[in-house]
Amino acid sequence: MVFTPLLASTACGTIELRSIAEPIRYGRPHLSFQRGKAQTIFPDDKIVRVRAERPLGGDVPGAVFDHGADLPEPPESVELDIDYDALIIAVGARNNTFNIEGVATHAQFLKELSDARAIRRTIIRNFETASFAATTAEQRASLLSFVVVGGGPTGVEFAAELHDFIEEDLAPQYPNLAGYSSIKIIEGRSLLGAFEQGLRDYCKQRFSRQNIGVVQANVAKVEKNVLTLSDGAKVPFGLCVWSTGIAPRRLVSERLGKESFRTDEWGHLVVDGCLRVERPNSPLSEVDTAHVRAPEVVPGVFAIGDCTAVEGERLAATAQVAEQQGAYLAQQMNLNPSWAVGESTAASPSPFRYRHQGSLAYVGGFTGVSDFTQVNSNAFKGKTVRGFASFVVWRSAYLTKLGSWRNRLQVPIDWFRTFFWGRDTSLF
Ligand SMILES: Cc1cc2nc3c(=O)[nH]c(=O)nc-3n(C[C@H](O)[C@H](O)[C@H](O)COP(=O)(O)OP(=O)(O)OC[C@H]3O[C@@H](n4cnc5c(N)ncnc54)[C@H](O)[C@@H]3O)c2cc1C
Repeated sequence: MVFTPLLASTACGTIELRSIAEPIRYGRPHLSFQRGKAQTIFPDDKIVRVRAERPLGGDVPGAVFDHGADLPEPPESVELDIDYDALIIAVGARNNTFNIEGVATHAQFLKELSDARAIRRTIIRNFETASFAATTAEQRASLLSFVVVGGGPTGVEFAAELHDFIEEDLAPQYPNLAGYSSIKIIEGRSLLGAFEQGLRDYCKQRFSRQNIGVVQANVAKVEKNVLTLSDGAKVPFGLCVWSTGIAPRRLVSERLGKESFRTDEWGHLVVDGCLRVERPNSPLSEVDTAHVRAPEVVPGVFAIGDCTAVEGERLAATAQVAEQQGAYLAQQMNLNPSWAVGESTAASPSPFRYRHQGSLAYVGGFTGVSDFTQVNSNAFKGKTVRGFASFVVWRSAYLTKLGSWRNRLQVPIDWFRTFFWGRDTSLF
């Protein structure tokens, strides 16, 4: 499990990768875990078909399975049919490329720990290559041109963290490269579009002071080390981080949606107010004459998080929503196991209610923006906070949300280390 709100910090070395990761198996003796990819679901037989793959290779040659001819290697994968009483689909989403040519091949996503590791290595490697004696001035500028596509909270936070990394650590260590590096953020609409206007303006001001260029444009094509904007302008880059939002996984939109469950026009699983998955083309019941939809649900199958669309509500694809949905479902299932397994006689609980706790973003140089204008319940209700105060709110909020005490201790140690000794810039 990864704590994604701090992923941009790990991509720039403010926090170490392992400080925001937690193995699912760790400290959960009641849980049985099977690593594998769900292939399809047979709701009538209450079975999930999973392909379990064994980890291949190893860092040390021959270290995994090299015990001689008498002890053959296990197969690379096996198919398992896992039966269930109640099933919760929480497969998340994939990166959205909007089918723009070249994105998947030449841009770098920021969604998984492996992405953060690749980004961090690329930043350091590009600085090292730029300082190589035979690199020309033009090549230096291209290698150190960092482009972020997408001005939502992830893109903004990454640009801000990268600015801190370059200013505080890389620039002093590579004085010969002064003036070559640049950060641009490309966004078709407005930076932090879901935030209150004053906070958006503050972010723009901060970026302008930090020399982070903001280009209002759409990207038409990405090629190796250069992208083309829709007006034909070319932007060279040494690293392009693509952060333009998410799309449903093909397992959901193309397989489950067609076979067993109802999906919306984008391909999310449609769930009712109690997060039960609906049948495809579920026939309208009598109450629909009064324009109230009472769809048919699939017994014992629920869905939460980024892969879902709650009927009649527009919820953002955020960890806040996914976490609250998970907690709601766990509570209702424990209270009413016969409802959980889909018994028709079981009474339904009251529907899930989302409570927004605020939107936060780090904007660099120990400043942030916090939007509580849509919040009804906490001490900041209806307010906005910006600057250093928001940075403190941002760090404190994420610290309390980290999943384990080990990480809650590890992350402040990383912050402390970065503050006093800087980020690690070794290339390995
Ligand atoms: C960089 C970044 C920063 C973010 N910052 C914030 C933030 O500050 N605040 C906030 O609220 N939200 C934030 N989010 C969004 C948040 O991470 C997601 O909304 C949240 O993780 C969704 O949870 P989920 O359980 O639906 O999906 P995920 O967390 O994506 O989990 C889905 C899991 O399902 C697994 N899976 C996929 N397909 C299969 C399959 N076929 N079989 C088995 N397993 C499968 C995946 O490997 C994954 O582990 C951020 C996201 C990113 C990428």
